[in-house]
Amino acid sequence: MSLLQDRVALVTGGSRGIGKAIARALAEQGAKVAICSRDTEAVRQAADEISPGGGRVLAFQADVAEKADVRALVQGIVSRWGQIHVLVNNAGINARIPIDAEDEARWIQILTVNVVGAYYVTREVLRYMPNHDGGRVINISSVLGRFGVPAYTAYCTAKHGIIGFTRALALEVAGRGITVNAICPGWVETDMAHLGMQETAAALGMSPEEFRKQALAMVPIQRILDPKEVADLAVYLASNASAGMTGQAINLCGGQIMS
Ligand code: NAP
Repeated sequence: MSLLQDRVALVTGGSRGIGKAIARALAEQGAKVAICSRDTEAVRQAADEISPGGGRVLAFQADVAEKADVRALVQGIVSRWGQIHVLVNNAGINARIPIDAEDEARWIQILTVNVVGAYYVTREVLRYMPNHDGGRVINISSVLGRFGVPAYTAYCTAKHGIIGFTRALALEVAGRGITVNAICPGWVETDMAHLGMQETAAALGMSPEEFRKQALAMVPIQRILDPKEVADLAVYLASNASAGMTGQAINLCGGQIMS
């Protein structure tokens, strides 16, 4: 029997990167998985790739920062599969925004997508998450939810905020038998990490390759993580094996947090 046989899961931001790897890993363990992103074609392609022939992985176009999209997304899943056991709040954006940059709209957008989006999706999904049946909320924070990085106040605020959201919500839904935990990844090989390395390298006047070397020197295991490694932890948190854990923020960062 697979670990997640016939559980229903929603992974936001499942069209690429960490979200896609999590969706694939949950599906491999027998879950029925819905994924969403803002790009209809990209999310459809990801679903086809994970589950050729379709049926067990459903793709939805939805912006987590838009309440109407979130409502339609959750209704779409529930009308097909009845309930949602596992929610992975993964959708996120990042950008380097020095505090004196004239980029207020982008700063607020980072908070809106990463934090308000997680709130909208969680609130809606919890209406359809059964009580005392292994309900799980898994939030993707970051090591930038653990420490600060200059010029990343928006992202650090958002990712620290997700840990607070995780702790408070864990207490609020414990009586329903639902656990809520966060994963705090370090550098993971995705589009977001590449963009972050490019932006910071440019600001420091070095090449992305030089910056990558410098960044990985701060990681004891000396390598960038594969999205699959985050997905494996998400599978554990989605499964019965993690039933005793709630309100936790787990660092998955090759030891970076210690430096
Ligand atoms: P990514 O490669 O940029 O993928 C982000 C995913 O989120 C895409 O599917 C994207 O699709 C979707 N998305 C973005 N904004 C959205 C919105 N408003 N509504 C719905 N979907 C949205 O990023 P990633 O590296 O996989 O990151 C996934 C999560 O891990 C994020 O929360 C990120 O902060 C966190 N994280 C990443 C790293 C890292 O090093 N990569 C480290 C720590 C934490 P569309 O653009 O098509 O909407």
